Amino acid sequence: MKVIYLDNNATTRTADEVVAEMLPYFTERYGNPSSMHYFGGEVAKAIEQARERVAALIGADPREIVLTGCGSESDNAAIRSAVDLLPERKKIVTSRIEHPAILGPARYFEDRGYEVTYLGVDSDGRLDLAEAAAVIDDNTAIVSVMWANNETGTILPVEEIGRLAKEHGALFHCDAVQAAGKVPVDLRNSTIDYLSMSAHKFHGPKGVGVLYIRRGTPFAPFLIGGHQEHNRRAGTENAASIVGLGKAAELAHGYVEVEQTQVRALRDRMESALLANCRDAHRNAAAEPRLPNTSSISFDYIEGESVLLSLSDLGICASSGSACTSGSLEPSHVLRALGVPFTRVHGSLRLSLSVFTTGEEIDFVVEQLPPIVERLRALSPFGH
Ligand SMILES: *Cc1c(COP(=O)(O)O)cnc(C)c1O
Repeated sequence: MKVIYLDNNATTRTADEVVAEMLPYFTERYGNPSSMHYFGGEVAKAIEQARERVAALIGADPREIVLTGCGSESDNAAIRSAVDLLPERKKIVTSRIEHPAILGPARYFEDRGYEVTYLGVDSDGRLDLAEAAAVIDDNTAIVSVMWANNETGTILPVEEIGRLAKEHGALFHCDAVQAAGKVPVDLRNSTIDYLSMSAHKFHGPKGVGVLYIRRGTPFAPFLIGGHQEHNRRAGTENAASIVGLGKAAELAHGYVEVEQTQVRALRDRMESALLANCRDAHRNAAAEPRLPNTSSISFDYIEGESVLLSLSDLGICASSGSACTSGSLEPSHVLRALGVPFTRVHGSLRLSLSVFTTGEEIDFVVEQLPPIVERLRALSPFGH
């Protein structure tokens, strides 16, 4: 069965060019980049080239790039670093719509006596800057707000939030895992101190991430041990994956163009057709600015999981508005934060496209989904 993959905010297909550049680092180029011999040195060079490519994607200096094990590690490391560096400050400010990789450490420090403020959003997913200005204070160690939300695609005013953090001497972290490769990310003249990315969200391999640390910003490492990454992240480098990350970062300049034009057009066509052809369907947080590839739609009277299973039978991969941990039916904290009613959260579907999505695939989904929704409604005890 052909796979129609519309779950690109969960992970993406590794680009063929990326795999091709990685392969030699599993076979003949297996040296340890820390070794003194030329054989390890060749791998160290490949890692430095990857670092340069990552830096070029986000307008950074290669020395500002720390290579990590995943986006979650980068997020955790940033929060922990701020807490370590500013022990006299006992407050963390974040938003209600962050990824679990931020909400987890926030909760962890909350349990250990920190005051954590979770900034709210309106029904379009927009942050209230006045609320942010009111809560960020001189007791705040770190402010962490994401560039773009993974469930709705909403793009947040991170530079403005960063400015508020700066005014109070707090560190500012931004989870840009969903932004990289979809919208331009340029950190020259930015208020961002720490920024997270993850290769597998932009057609790189899984298990490798980036933590950008602005030059001059202190950093307390999360992994302590060897001297890798200039003492900022111990552990022998995942060379093959880092090489893949570098290639993906190089390709991502082109992806941003395609996302803004082709992917956005396909997403908009899909959304309008679904809203026109399904009764009682609602878009969630569709106001601009938002990512060009993401669509969150709720269908009244049915369960998102039932829709997912029916789509899956046709080879169509999507996500529902329940927690991303499969098996759990916790309603999405993001949609709840938007004020989407409980039943509508349960009937929600996330469709996320990529540069590999074709018009034929979108036509197929637009043709198949409305009858699925009608069939499930006919079976539903809630009727309609
Ligand atoms: C996927 C994702 C992460 C986690 O990245 P991993 O590399 O899977 O750990 C963090 N934040 C956001 C917004 C994400 O979408």
